[in-house]
This record gives sequence, structure tokens and C-alpha cells, in this order.
Amino acid sequence: MNRLDLLSLLPEELETLARRLGADAYRGRQLAAWIFEKGVYDFQAMSNLPTEFRARLTEEAVSGVPRVERVTGSKDGSQKFVLSLADGSRVQAVLMPDGDRLTLCLSTQVGCGFACAFCFTGTMGLDRNLTTGEIVGQLATVRQTLDPGTRVTHLVLMGMGEPLANYEATVKALRLLTHSDAFGYSPRRITVSTVGLVSGIKKLAKENLKVNLAISLHATTDEARERLMPVNRSWPLEDLLVACRRFPLPVRRRMTFEYVLLDDVNDSAEDAIRLTRLLKGIRAKVNLIPFNDWEGSGFRRPPLQRILAFQAIVQEHGITATVRWSKGEDIGAACGQLKEPGLTERVAS
Ligand code: SAH
Repeated sequence: MNRLDLLSLLPEELETLARRLGADAYRGRQLAAWIFEKGVYDFQAMSNLPTEFRARLTEEAVSGVPRVERVTGSKDGSQKFVLSLADGSRVQAVLMPDGDRLTLCLSTQVGCGFACAFCFTGTMGLDRNLTTGEIVGQLATVRQTLDPGTRVTHLVLMGMGEPLANYEATVKALRLLTHSDAFGYSPRRITVSTVGLVSGIKKLAKENLKVNLAISLHATTDEARERLMPVNRSWPLEDLLVACRRFPLPVRRRMTFEYVLLDDVNDSAEDAIRLTRLLKGIRAKVNLIPFNDWEGSGFRRPPLQRILAFQAIVQEHGITATVRWSKGEDIGAACGQLKEPGLTERVAS
């Protein structure tokens, strides 16, 4: 993409662009209103902008939103969007209604390079990072499909890819999502989930973004975590938990620890107790994710009784633990199930 992608620019940067293209700075704000508030991406339709400015924009810039290739609806009301990008790459975004909430799960990379043993997305390897415009573009595209009056209320960066491995683009996307003259989301409605990239967590701690952080923990000893998550060899549990303890949490906010429950692997009573010990001193809540199966995974979901027993032990130790029954399991849209046929071939070539 050689031309400037306007969905990658903050409102201030759109002002600078307007000046560079010979217009007044406030034209940049008007442009921001069209793109972020009105969801209009066609320069010709931006009726309050001077013709000359629109012509310059057409020459120099694009405001390309991803194209919807396929939408699959699940029995539980969630929808999986397969989106295609300018270079033909595909990513997925998952829309999940839950009472008053409408949560959109966004991808940050095409594929993922972290190869967690239980994750289907991880089997495809990393193809490339998404740009800022492609990250927020998933929201821009999906919201165009909603009924008037319906709004995405929450955003989670839990789709394909590792947000902190695509650090710059992710942080800028978060700034756009929370900027009052851009998408305008409250940071408390946004959650970034990480595999546990300590270097990225430390950097994020200094950004003052105030978004929620979720850590994919999934095991309670280095030995077990290393087997499940190769990232643990670079960033073992102790380093990870030190970074979590130091992460500035806004008042009354807690950090989420995700824990995928795998039958006979990490679901024992000892694991549950060890988990509560690891989280001592952190304002934490635990999100238990019963494993979502995929063909050839080699893992199983534990029986319901064991899931509930694990939850009970964590709760007895004073830590809130919820069970996340993944949405969209029947359409391959649940946690760790996002993978696009056709992509692997592209990656391999
Ligand atoms: N790379 C980031 C963002 C992905 S979030 C991260 O690792 O946090 C997706 C969540 O679903 C992660 O917690 C991931 O570990 C979990 N997950 C992956 N595969 C899963 C599966 N098959 N069943 C349940 N959860 C899974």
C-alpha cells in the first residue's frame, strides 16, 4: 500500500495532511468526522470538503476498509466475518452479542507466530502484521453491517495474532479507538490480550492508554507452560508476573488472567491452588476457557465437573473466576479456532 491510508491517521495528523494538501487545518477535522463518525470513506461523498481538496485526497490517499468476504452466523447469535485486505490476505473478526453488550473481537496479525500447542490459529504461522488502518478497519467494516442504532459496545484484541508483537500498529490503533475525535471508545471497554510478551507489557505500561490487559497464562509451572507455550522459554512465569505486578492498573480495575482448561494437562486441584499463589499481590480475575477442540489438536476439554471444581477452588481463595463458554464454536469462531483455509498455502509459498 503506497498511498496514505487515512484510517491509520489520528485527527491531528489529518489536520497536518490537510495543510500539506493546501487546505485549512479544520478540513482535516471535517475529514475525521466523515471517516470516524459518519463511516463515509468515499472522498467524493464528503460534500462539505472543497472539490480541489477532494481531488488531492483522491490522488494521495486511500481510506480502504477491509472487504467482507463471508459472514457466518452462529446458533448463539455471534457472527464470524472473514475480511479480505488490499493485498488479498484474510483476517477474521468475531461479533458477539451478550445482553446489552455487543463485543467485537479484532485481529492484529495475519496468522500468528507464537505456536501455542492448543491453538489452531497458531498452526498457520505468521504471515504479516496488520497496519493500524487494517486493525481499526475491521471495526469500520463490521459496523457498516449493523442495524441503525446498534453499536459495538466493547472491543477485544483477541482475534488472530499477538497484539504486542505488532506493537506500534496496535498502540496507534488503540489511540484511534479511544480518541474522542476518532472512534471515541472508553478505554475501559477495550481489552488487549497477550501471550505474555514481557517486553511489550513493560512498554505498554508506559503508554498511559488505560485499556484492560488480559494475560494468557494457561499453566502454573514453567515446565508445563513451556510445553504449551514456546514463548515461556524467552519469558518465564516469574518475569511475566513481575511485569504484571508493576503494570499500572487504574483504580478499581483488575487484570485478567486467561486460563484454557485442558483435560489432564493443567486442570488439577493442585494447578488451581498454584494459580492462586502465583496471582498473590495482583489485582486479578481469572477467566477460565474450556478448550475449544479442533481436529488433530491432541487435547480435550475437561469434563464439566472438573471445570466447575477448578473454578470453585480459585474462588475459595478470594479470586473471581468466570468460565468463558466461547461463542461461535459451531462456526469455527471460538477462541483459538480462527484459521483461514487458503492462507497456509500462501504462507508456505
Ligand atoms: N495472542 C494473544 C491474543 C489471542 S486471544 C493471546 O495469546 O492472548 C485468544 C485466547 O484464546 C488466548 O488466551 C488463547 O490462548 C486462547 N486459545 C487459543 N486456542 C484456544 C482453544 N483451542 N480453546 C480455547 N482457548 C484457546
